[in-house]
Amino acid sequence: MKKRITKDSSINIRTNKSRIDGDVIVGGHNSKVVKQTVIHDNSIKYDIDKENNFFFDALSPYLIRKLGKTKVLGIGAGSSILGFLSMFKGIEGPSYSIFLWMGFFLLIFGFVFIGVIKHYLNTKCKNCNREFAYEEIGSPQRREVQTSDGLIKQTTTRQYRCKYCGDIQKIKINKTIDPDSDYRL
Ligand SMILES: [Zn+2]
Repeated sequence: MKKRITKDSSINIRTNKSRIDGDVIVGGHNSKVVKQTVIHDNSIKYDIDKENNFFFDALSPYLIRKLGKTKVLGIGAGSSILGFLSMFKGIEGPSYSIFLWMGFFLLIFGFVFIGVIKHYLNTKCKNCNREFAYEEIGSPQRREVQTSDGLIKQTTTRQYRCKYCGDIQKIKINKTIDPDSDYRL
């Protein structure tokens, strides 16, 4: 993963504003501003890899054209529900019972079909309505800021362009991470 650490401009703007307002700023980095909460000037921004959708890029158009949306959704939902039920039955019985394995495979099968529908909806152009139209472009970026309560706010930005009409969609995904439990670089 390529990492590029940059100073966060939005924090700087806030610091400058504080200066104009006449607040006293104590310290430079990780500045503590009087009359305000502690500002952690430690945001980082870095490029991440594009999504690897090879599996669904190949499978989704094939299944949607072969079966149609309704059937794919029906198989996905039905298989997932049966999988759950079968797994519950398997858990009650002796270990490694056939129901447990059957449930496990039905569940995976169901999730793949639901993934196909999700991929279909995500890649349908909002402008020209063509199917499987959006492709990821540019360098996706991730920005992380540590909040005063120690959590990390992560924003991932990805851009997609319709290969038919050129419509561009910018998607931002926000996530809050507790570094003590599940933070991984
Ligand atoms: Zn389009």
